[in-house]
Amino acid sequence: MKPTRDNFFQFLDWLFYQRGAEAYLGEPVTIADHMLQAAYCAEADGADEPLIVAALLHDVGHFTGAFGDDYIEKRIDNRHEEVGCAVLSPLFPRAVAESIGLHVAAKKYLCATDAAYYDTLSDASKKTLQLQGGVMNDDEVRAFENRRYFAAAVKLRRWDDAAKVRGLRVNGLLHYRAMIARTLIAA
Ligand code: FE
Repeated sequence: MKPTRDNFFQFLDWLFYQRGAEAYLGEPVTIADHMLQAAYCAEADGADEPLIVAALLHDVGHFTGAFGDDYIEKRIDNRHEEVGCAVLSPLFPRAVAESIGLHVAAKKYLCATDAAYYDTLSDASKKTLQLQGGVMNDDEVRAFENRRYFAAAVKLRRWDDAAKVRGLRVNGLLHYRAMIARTLIAA
């Protein structure tokens, strides 16, 4: 299902209540729980609404792309960050789509710049790091720091990494409906 302005809440129901119950690439949470936990972390950190919405939707690209669920086994990168950015950019402000589009680059960046970071990654994230091109080199680090949504993407990445807690109870999708509507309208 592809999201449009007209079907967006239908799309969210499909994403969170149907597809969302699926396992998340070997993580201990479902993908819906994972995205809800990421949004919860963003809100708890005092993020602004576009960035909370970005956290909530950061993995939509796993569901709107052309790849199946076994792409890790096949050793291909599904580029879910770019797919997510592309499907959301007509509907949301740039801050939402661009920080989602950079959240994988932010992992590669943090691996290069924060010595303690790699060990905090889940096994699945370590595995996909290789498929996604590995740790950034110095030139890539500098280029990334010059991206407009660099800081937002790094924050989003840290919420993403923290959002894999089995059994953690957080706000459901309903909590974010009005916020999403406000953010959609502002686009
Ligand atoms: Fe994620």
